[in-house]
Amino acid sequence: MIARVTLELALRKEFDYLIPPDLSEQIDVGSRVQVPFGPRKVLGCVTALAEESAHAKLKPILKVIGAQTLVTPKILKLARWIGEYYCCAPETALKSVLPEAVRQEQAGWRERLWVRALPFAGELPKLPKRQKELWHIIEERRELPLKELLELAETTAGTIRRLEDKGLVAIAPQISERDPYAREHILPNKPLPLNDAQAKALAAIITAMEGVSAQASALSHRMVEGRGEGGQDGTTGLENLPLTRSPTHPPTVFLLHGVTGSGKTEVYLQAIARALELGKGAIVLVPEISLTPQTVERFKARFTSGRLQTLVAVLHSHLSAGERHDEWHKIRQGRARIVIGARSAIFSPVEPLGLIIVDEEHEHTYKQEEAPRYHARDVAIVRGQMEGATVVLGSATPSMESFYNCNRGKYKLLQLLERADDKKMPVVRIVDMRQTLRPGSAIPIFSPQLKEAIAQRLERSEQVILFLNRRGYSTALQCPLCGYVAGCPNCSLSLTYHRQDQKLCCHVCAHTEPVPAVCPNPKCRNPQIRYSGLGTQKVEATLAKLFPHARIKRMDSDALQRKNDFRRILGDFRAGKIDILVGTQMIAKGLHFPNVTLVGIIYADLALHQPDFRAGERTFQLLTQVAGRAGRGEVEGEVFVQAFTPFHPAIQYARRHDFTGFYEQELEFRQQLKYPPYSRIALLTLKGRNEDKVQFSANHLQRELEKATSDIKDLILAGPAPAPLLRAETYYRYQIMLRAQRMSALSRRLSQVTQSLALPEDVSLSVDIDPVNLA
Ligand code: ADP
Ligand code: ZN
Repeated sequence: MIARVTLELALRKEFDYLIPPDLSEQIDVGSRVQVPFGPRKVLGCVTALAEESAHAKLKPILKVIGAQTLVTPKILKLARWIGEYYCCAPETALKSVLPEAVRQEQAGWRERLWVRALPFAGELPKLPKRQKELWHIIEERRELPLKELLELAETTAGTIRRLEDKGLVAIAPQISERDPYAREHILPNKPLPLNDAQAKALAAIITAMEGVSAQASALSHRMVEGRGEGGQDGTTGLENLPLTRSPTHPPTVFLLHGVTGSGKTEVYLQAIARALELGKGAIVLVPEISLTPQTVERFKARFTSGRLQTLVAVLHSHLSAGERHDEWHKIRQGRARIVIGARSAIFSPVEPLGLIIVDEEHEHTYKQEEAPRYHARDVAIVRGQMEGATVVLGSATPSMESFYNCNRGKYKLLQLLERADDKKMPVVRIVDMRQTLRPGSAIPIFSPQLKEAIAQRLERSEQVILFLNRRGYSTALQCPLCGYVAGCPNCSLSLTYHRQDQKLCCHVCAHTEPVPAVCPNPKCRNPQIRYSGLGTQKVEATLAKLFPHARIKRMDSDALQRKNDFRRILGDFRAGKIDILVGTQMIAKGLHFPNVTLVGIIYADLALHQPDFRAGERTFQLLTQVAGRAGRGEVEGEVFVQAFTPFHPAIQYARRHDFTGFYEQELEFRQQLKYPPYSRIALLTLKGRNEDKVQFSANHLQRELEKATSDIKDLILAGPAPAPLLRAETYYRYQIMLRAQRMSALSRRLSQVTQSLALPEDVSLSVDIDPVNLA
């Protein structure tokens, strides 16, 4: 027999190897193997078995890694789809579906020595006192870890060895599972009686799961065999998967739109319970940052006891390699039927899979920013289709893409519009920062209104969160007096201010213009037009001067050097040891602090004028999420939004908690300019140290793309243009942006062009399909 193996080398090629007779029992599609490759030994994955090979003199597989096949056929199929859709090499896609700790052989099960009492006939032989005491402990426990015994009996291994010599006990290694949550005390928790909106949402999800369940085997079989069946053009691709077209019961995708605190999590928990009753498992994806012990505890607490008892496996980057190895194998062995984890948990081998939940589905961290550049939410939807699993996307601020998919009937919308705990939505006050400016003095950080509000909270011993969204290096040019922002005449995007050469530049179409000396608004003419940078450090320092007695803590990626800092600071804040928390978007995410009654957003416009068509959407989401942090306790919350453009729709709709209003006007803007969700984007970035070479290569690539895509009618090809972050860490970057209605045809063309493209050695190319970050 021959095995076809994808090696972990960027070769975009598979190789045939002989299966030696003594390994034939263990090798199947999905096995991890070690094979000879030239003088080296390389790891790979078996992707097919064959009777014969076109090549002569095949070398044999050296060994198999892991007792079970690690990559199941379903996950292998998913990896293939990722390779095709996201234009990456199959080996790159395959690499991402197994955790490093499982892929490599080093981290294995941890073995511990255990001591076990052996049966003996007749009377206990006469023993010295020490040994006798020891024997009593072992006899009572029957077996226990050697280390524990040594501590209990305050003795040495030598004494125990003597009992072993007498044939009374056996000492042998045993697998001892690591449990990253062993130290948490988790009390069981029971389902809550649902309110009407929750009950309705749950019923819809359950109906869908039961419908699929009845014909799961037939459907998943068809999906796996005939790729694109039900799609129109026989290609794989997100847009071609049959969602509601099939006459039978296809798996359904739900968008659960529920305001913060509306009880989405309770709906997830009860839906998972039903999946377990149907004999299926579930995957719950949450953004890495919200994988706090509290979140994990809510899931463990529900399922660690009772009739549906199962292990809940947790996968995230703060686990040790060993812990990750054990958690993953608990899933593979079917002992853990529920997985909760960050992005890559979507590849967990849960079998059979009934339900996938993607919480905070709008979160950009679901997109992996290195190859394979997959979006876990989209992979979740494809996996749901392939395996007949129901998918629930949950968010207080759904992405435009998901909302649009509801509008056109691809997803089903479920809404929870009220808080489940009867807490009121916070009052949002917009502060017009233009009013605070005084000629000749610096732009203030705090308006008098916000200062006053902070002082009040400190007096009442309530807590405050202050939020500054300072991301990216590039800034828009904005007039602090009138709010004027320089925009591109062709693209309706903010122009990026390049400080070094004093130019404004559009990174989509490459339009440039000089920086104006005074504000171009004829009614303003302010000479102080350049945006001065502001960071969380400056906010913290100013705050300390204004409120010398307040306990202030800053939380941003600079301040968090060690991995436990995040949890420690949040713990201190929860315990009331901090009065004011200052941070970047990292504090905007699903955290509950009952004593926070004031949230301040320093410059809401900073997010608004990023050179990205999603700037408005992001600002709206951010303001809504941040506002959701206030008033989760007994006292009503208040939110202050300081802005230089207070009448911008993103700010105004967020103030009124008006989701639908915002989505409708934003969709109109996207449609006019043919941005997603009305198109799909592929962003190509060329990078190198020599700017001329990078630019030359970009022009060359652009011509090749034009040729290869001339038959895609609706294609818009823009660029090459310098990236907003033109020169990062001494690299120059140029971008080409392609937009089309459907990605599948474009993906294939891109693969062809990029693979045959000859680039200079010191210029590299990356392809990002459905990018979320245009910088
Ligand atoms: P979300 O996930 O939408 O932010 P949560 O599930 O965290 O909302 O619920 C917010 C709060 O409301 C939690 O304290 C939760 O225990 C409570 N809650 C949820 N559902 C109910 C219910 N049906 N009855 C009473 N309290 C509820
Ligand atoms: Zn432009």
